[in-house]
Amino acid sequence: MRSIVNAPCGWSRSLVSHRSALNSTCFSSTASLAVHANNRRLRKESSDLTATATKTRIMSGMRPTGRLHLGHYFGALLNWLEYQDKYDSYFSIVDWHALTTKYQDVKGIGGNIREIALDWLSVGIEPEVSTIYVQSAIPEIAELHLLLSMITPQNWVEREPTLKDMVKMLAADEGEAKEKVTYGLLGYPVLMTADILAFRAGLVPVGKDQESHLEFARDVAKRFNYIYGVEYFPEPQPKFTSTPLLKGLDGQKMGKSYNNDVKLADTPEDTLKKVKQAITDRTRIARADPGHTDLCEVPWPLYKIFAADILPQVKTECESATIGCVDCKTRLAGVINEFLRPVREKRAELTKDPQTVEKILAYGNAKARKVAQETLNGVRDIMGLSRWV
Ligand code: SF4
Repeated sequence: MRSIVNAPCGWSRSLVSHRSALNSTCFSSTASLAVHANNRRLRKESSDLTATATKTRIMSGMRPTGRLHLGHYFGALLNWLEYQDKYDSYFSIVDWHALTTKYQDVKGIGGNIREIALDWLSVGIEPEVSTIYVQSAIPEIAELHLLLSMITPQNWVEREPTLKDMVKMLAADEGEAKEKVTYGLLGYPVLMTADILAFRAGLVPVGKDQESHLEFARDVAKRFNYIYGVEYFPEPQPKFTSTPLLKGLDGQKMGKSYNNDVKLADTPEDTLKKVKQAITDRTRIARADPGHTDLCEVPWPLYKIFAADILPQVKTECESATIGCVDCKTRLAGVINEFLRPVREKRAELTKDPQTVEKILAYGNAKARKVAQETLNGVRDIMGLSRWV
């Protein structure tokens, strides 16, 4: 998940392969036989449960880090819009994941959940079609995380390369890392696995270069099935996505933390102000200098995305210096504002009644929770826990 998240949610993190460790489990053969016998019924129930879905289930999520920008739209949401017609789509606002790195910074989480839901709904994610829910509203995910953590070897999570990157990001030195790298952060790949397996998702969106991202979840699913002699969890497969790199206004990748983004919910005036700051052709010093579209760092690539039909005109005007960069960017801002107009109008409509988002999330939470409960009940049975519930 891009997300899995793609930056907003951590789903686009790199996960290591754990295939080699799959057969290293030690467990009593007697216990194993008993478990296998007990689980024949569960295999049938599992296949019945899977059979109720007429479409393949796909699961993705985003961290509630604030309002979404154009990079999120082209990197994830555009694909989600396609998925919701083709698949049984589960889209999660993964607020527990936000705590893995920002556990002290909790003030904005509630508001950010609302904002992200508004963005999803505004672009056309339909709550009657897709299941939209908040991770922390599904306590079964937390219990599944706990149970999966029991079977996940320590070295699988410790080898996770993104953890090393995050340690570098979070801590200036080893001493600081000891404080900031928490048990929760170490366990985030298991939590991500629980996010996917709770809904028995068959597909998880990942970029073409990110197939390994899902291997951890797949390997935990395989290990669970192997240990208990069941075919309970499907092995989630990657759904490859094409995610064009959207440049931020400074020429770097668009990202909220870089302060170089255009948010879906920005006003037209803010959008114009931001786009006017975009880096153009650095060799074009004076207004009378001819520009070079191939050296134009931000506006030209954005024109390619938002206004491919007028590219020849922009190129001619730029290279003949009949238009200045300020005017060119003003026109581009107008194109982007027009593109986002229906999204912003929908957002305005949704915010008229403050209860709308809450009701939609409550509906999605209930729907998601029912599925997660069914999954967890099976897991409890398989792990010998159900009689105590
Ligand atoms: Fe870029 Fe437009 Fe300026 Fe040419 S005129 S360098 S395309 S902003």
